[in-house]
Amino acid sequence: MVFIAAAKIEKMPLTADQRAALAARVKYAREMGLGDFYRCEPSDIRHLETLQPMTQVVARHATSQTANELPVLNKSAALAEIRDDIGDCTRCRLHKGRTKLVFGVGNENADIMFVGEGPGADEDKQGEPFVGRAGQLLNNMITAMGIRREDVYIANVVKCRPPDNRTPEKDECDTCSPFLMRQIEVIQPKMIVTLGAVAAKNLLGVNDSMANLRGKIYDFRGTKLVATYHPAYLLRDPRQKAEAWKDLQMVMRELGMAVPKKP
Ligand code: URA
Repeated sequence: MVFIAAAKIEKMPLTADQRAALAARVKYAREMGLGDFYRCEPSDIRHLETLQPMTQVVARHATSQTANELPVLNKSAALAEIRDDIGDCTRCRLHKGRTKLVFGVGNENADIMFVGEGPGADEDKQGEPFVGRAGQLLNNMITAMGIRREDVYIANVVKCRPPDNRTPEKDECDTCSPFLMRQIEVIQPKMIVTLGAVAAKNLLGVNDSMANLRGKIYDFRGTKLVATYHPAYLLRDPRQKAEAWKDLQMVMRELGMAVPKKP
């Protein structure tokens, strides 16, 4: 696979139109999860491992390696770059009702990354995921695991609040999820925990009920993934909390954490 060095675009003798077209292609590829672009042959990949973080993301794509095989050295910069690429996003209709875009929050070196569906009213106001009632319950679930909210990373499939908290449409998820994929590639969690059916279906690419999806460990591009109930659903049906706790116990066991018997 041949990559064009984005850095070299500046030096090429291009017309303004060609430059704009090339910049658009680079921007699109970035959104699809590719980092900086370098001309290289597969045999050069070893050498790339010593370069800057986003180059390492390229190396992963070039060799079909999974997200955890190469470290990302400067995670803050890589996350800031993703946020910059999202920008003042108008890529889908959800931007129309947005107050604040909700990018993601937490420990960039987290072992566990929680992925929800999309911001609600509180999150839209504050620009942070899971800060409303469902967020309170998620915090309690995290605390029950013997860790703190600051220890994990939390993001959503869509970054803007769907009107009236409706389920995000497929095209909205498809437009936004490349940014979530890039967040996952940067965080490199040991375990992804999806909250609710939208997140599970988007990452696993399957269409099944939560009752069927939960209780198992999946492989998501080389990272373990557990699907559990959305905290908002658990608020509506607290009887399912015991099942969600079993899922979290499974996560703890997989990560070698001490497993409290009771939440
Ligand atoms: N529900 C979600 O899926 N995500 C949030 O950030 C808040 C509520």
